[in-house]
Amino acid sequence: MAIEILKLLVRSADTWNFEGSLSGLSDREWMALRYLARANRFSRTPSALASFLGTTRSAASQIAAALQSKGLMVRKPIVEDKRSIALCLTGEGERFLKRDPMNALRDRLVALDVADRSRLHDALRRVLAGLDVGKRRHHADICTECMFLIERGEGKDRHFRCQFFRKAIAQKDTTLLCAYFEGRSDRGQLPASP
Ligand code: SF4
Repeated sequence: MAIEILKLLVRSADTWNFEGSLSGLSDREWMALRYLARANRFSRTPSALASFLGTTRSAASQIAAALQSKGLMVRKPIVEDKRSIALCLTGEGERFLKRDPMNALRDRLVALDVADRSRLHDALRRVLAGLDVGKRRHHADICTECMFLIERGEGKDRHFRCQFFRKAIAQKDTTLLCAYFEGRSDRGQLPASP
């Protein structure tokens, strides 16, 4: 049974790991576009993109340049730090995601009933945590799973704060991807802020 599950996981990878291009983008370019669409404001930089793709900053810059040349992304200066650049999807980039080859797999998952989806989600999380993937390759994840997120108040007074960046986080942004994420069990104590 374990071998069968492994084969199914490998087959599912064909939707995001492929040769050549689909709708004009390579698998890496699709990965970058997908990431930038879901990244929070701290994580849209070239270095965060490089970290997410597991590549060098220069390779990530080439991927970003390819997206920019197709009108899917633009570089914008970051207001709080004029020396840094944010990689932002254009309206065309947002619309282009409708052609994402991974959507077919997503739609199949959405079609599962809630209980099956929840069991699959929990089982995959446990398997990946058991492999200790997060420590071998830093991965992006969402604030609500991060050890740095502090939640205070209730009802209308409920608010969130990131201990790492020492900044407030809007509730709607707590489900965006962050390249600085740390799982609650990844470290025994909080590291210093940047
Ligand atoms: S709480 Fe964690 S995931 Fe959220 S912005 Fe801070 S470091 Fe990133």
